[in-house]
Amino acid sequence: MDFDLSDELVAAQELARDFAEKEIGPTAAKDDKEHTFRRDLVSKMGELGFYGCVIPESYGGNGLGFLALALITEEIARVHSAMRVFMNMQVGPALTLLRFGSEELKKRWIPPLIRGESVGCFAITEPDAGSDVAAMRTTAVRDGDSYTLNGSKIWISNAPVADSALIYAVTDRSQKHRGISAFYADLHQPGVSRRALDALGVHASPLGELTFENFRVPAENLIGKEGEGFKICMWQLNQTRLSCAAGALGVARAAKEAAVSYAN
Ligand SMILES: Cc1cc2nc3c(=O)[nH]c(=O)nc-3n(C[C@H](O)[C@H](O)[C@H](O)COP(=O)(O)OP(=O)(O)OC[C@H]3O[C@@H](n4cnc5c(N)ncnc54)[C@H](O)[C@@H]3O)c2cc1C
Repeated sequence: MDFDLSDELVAAQELARDFAEKEIGPTAAKDDKEHTFRRDLVSKMGELGFYGCVIPESYGGNGLGFLALALITEEIARVHSAMRVFMNMQVGPALTLLRFGSEELKKRWIPPLIRGESVGCFAITEPDAGSDVAAMRTTAVRDGDSYTLNGSKIWISNAPVADSALIYAVTDRSQKHRGISAFYADLHQPGVSRRALDALGVHASPLGELTFENFRVPAENLIGKEGEGFKICMWQLNQTRLSCAAGALGVARAAKEAAVSYAN
């Protein structure tokens, strides 16, 4: 079996390493200390095509594949772990839309997500629904040509800064996990409030709470069918775990390099 990377993958890896060392590295410690959200870097990563690896060219991606995505994520995390979170926040929603969204949703949201123009996020977790996703309480009630969302999501990466969100909410409580649905929503609409939260680390990755109070989401923004949200959520988490693992590898490499450098 040949484990060598193709020339194309080596080029993607080198581009990401060069970008991370030259553009992210010099201010990484300062950005972390000052809790700075680097929207400029998020955009540049989009311009360089980093979010487009698992998206076909027809939606603005480059189709390089999951290995390219993992290699790029590893290089970013090696220099600044917080910056790799954006790989997940842009790619996770885009990939979920690609797999389950209507053609209109794909055309509307995937290109701005992977270009880094619309800062994305995904909102699953609630104060009483972490590992147990099916315990979520946020509701989405169909009302004419829209759904009205009410509830609160917590520990959401990018909540303080996101332009759009992949949101999971209960449309039919009696169906338990089969009563959860997925939506894609523009967060710059009435009914959304945000609260920033602090974490122990990765301070340049904004974290927070999203609260929905009679937040109206157009019915056509439903992803898949009503009741398919739990299945979509589990699928999405499987995709984003790869990026988390690649990020952990990047951090481990950085730690090893620092230790070797210190020892010498
Ligand atoms: C930095 C950060 C970023 C995050 N970003 C996002 C985001 O972008 N979007 C989002 O939706 N969420 C996000 N989260 C939330 C994250 O997904 C949840 O923290 C996670 O799902 C765990 O939920 P919890 O914290 O409520 O822990 P709990 O579910 O309460 O789990 C606590 C502990 O109990 C264990 N446990 C739970 N259930 C069982 C069981 N049945 N049997 C045995 N052990 C069990 C768990 O393994 C864990 O060790 C983020 C969290 C952090 C810290």
